[in-house]
Amino acid sequence: MVMTVENDGSVVIKVPKYTRKSAIDRFYSANLGWIAQRRQTLSENSENIAVLSLRDISKLKKQAREVMARKTAYYGQIMGLKPDKIKITSAKKRWGSCIKSKGVYTICYSFRTMFLPDRVQDYIVVHELAHMVHFDHSKNFYSLVEQILPDWAQLSCQADNFKDWHIY
Ligand SMILES: [Zn+2]
Repeated sequence: MVMTVENDGSVVIKVPKYTRKSAIDRFYSANLGWIAQRRQTLSENSENIAVLSLRDISKLKKQAREVMARKTAYYGQIMGLKPDKIKITSAKKRWGSCIKSKGVYTICYSFRTMFLPDRVQDYIVVHELAHMVHFDHSKNFYSLVEQILPDWAQLSCQADNFKDWHIY
């Protein structure tokens, strides 16, 4: 099978005749990272725009649920924190948020975090977990983040750069 990403960000997969649909789906899923990378390269050369199909979005949401829950459990264990709920949103302006309501902590992540580099995803997770302790962006908040990710400042910059990237 041959996969290409067109200039408009759409994905074309050429397959041999009689290829099973499930095999194509697997191929597509296995290459989501590559697709994101190709789209990024394309967008760097044109405007920072990517157009997602509903199918892309549902796959990315599913992927985000797995990836971000795993990372939250991992860093949560290190930090001794465990949110009661994790939600995946379609937020465009923020990668994540942490809400406390009636003693219940919910961390939300946008499915768009799936376009971020792995280490930047880690930063988003540690950032939101740290909000369970400090509900602000105070010195204490960032010193907690720094204990876990000493290079947080650089990662935070990278996360901000991606905000110019319009993923629809
Ligand atoms: Zn924050």
